[in-house]
Amino acid sequence: MADSAICRELQELLPGRVRTGEPMKNHTSWRIGGPSEIFVEPAGREELQLVVSHAYRRQVPLMVIGNGSNLLVTEGGIRGIVVKIGSDLGRITTRDLRITAEAGAKLAGVAAVARDKGLGGFEFSAGIPGTVGGAVVMNAGANGSSICSLVHKVLLLSLEGEFYQKANKDISFGYRTSILQSEPAIVVEAEFFCHFKDKKEITAEMERHLNRRRQTQPLGYPNAGSVFKNPPGDSAGRLIEAAGLKGLRIGDAQISTVHANFIINLGSATARDILKLVELAREKVLGCFGVELQLEIKVIGND
Ligand SMILES: Cc1cc2nc3c(=O)[nH]c(=O)nc-3n(C[C@H](O)[C@H](O)[C@H](O)COP(=O)(O)OP(=O)(O)OC[C@H]3O[C@@H](n4cnc5c(N)ncnc54)[C@H](O)[C@@H]3O)c2cc1C
Repeated sequence: MADSAICRELQELLPGRVRTGEPMKNHTSWRIGGPSEIFVEPAGREELQLVVSHAYRRQVPLMVIGNGSNLLVTEGGIRGIVVKIGSDLGRITTRDLRITAEAGAKLAGVAAVARDKGLGGFEFSAGIPGTVGGAVVMNAGANGSSICSLVHKVLLLSLEGEFYQKANKDISFGYRTSILQSEPAIVVEAEFFCHFKDKKEITAEMERHLNRRRQTQPLGYPNAGSVFKNPPGDSAGRLIEAAGLKGLRIGDAQISTVHANFIINLGSATARDILKLVELAREKVLGCFGVELQLEIKVIGND
């Protein structure tokens, strides 16, 4: 439990950047989540290093989030410090085929810069609402590609407050996973390698992906994208639908009628409602097809 002295110390170190009891529902795409004890949005990497080092010295747990588009935060909220890596850590630069982006840059921003420079590679990401940090950690992907094929190296900050780099080969990327999900470190920046491509082709491809999403995903309601990973050779949405769960509602949470691997918040859904649907989907799909669904979303917070 972080005490008020730690909060005061942080407020002195980072004036105007520290809040207490910040509702996490304001920082998740599901619009769900209780308060974080201490919430910090650093203005740059020096401030990030300050808060991380301070948390380490004072032994306060620290959790990092990006755009909160893959997160379910429980109503009990989060103890310790939540660090949000946002647009103040969002610089994007390019050199030849290389794009360097800070962790708080939106994937959409990086894809737009790439398109404008005639650099291909990020088209797949059209419509993924995450930050660079979240996308690298999750190895975000769609349309047969994922971000690991573009990552050259990543700059990290350890929880002790030291910067270090990791090359692609040392990140153990896999389907919606990377070693960074278990490494006690924060992604600060990533360097990507693209290839030259005609701007018009890039634009058309991104439009195609966006249109497909508009037709196949319930974008009118708060959600967190795919709840489960697709099992090998199948799709979680197909299995959940075949198990007869499409449209099932608990409280204000509903298995989408548009795409059964999405759970939507119809207004005032709670994390508990979502987790009940998650459990039901798991049980039914296991019972009907013998397939164990694995979560793609990350669940955090106290009961
Ligand atoms: C409508 C919709 C569509 C989506 N479509 C897709 C899709 O097609 N493909 C796909 O892969 N995902 C998709 N997602 C899920 C989500 O957008 C991605 O997983 C995205 O990469 C998460 O980024 P984020 O910044 O929101 O991360 P968050 O949700 O904030 O965090 C996700 C995880 O990454 C960690 N993390 C975040 N930033 C950092 C950092 N800087 N350093 C260390 N750890 C960090 C967090 O602790 C957490 O464990 C979709 C989501 C929505 C709402």
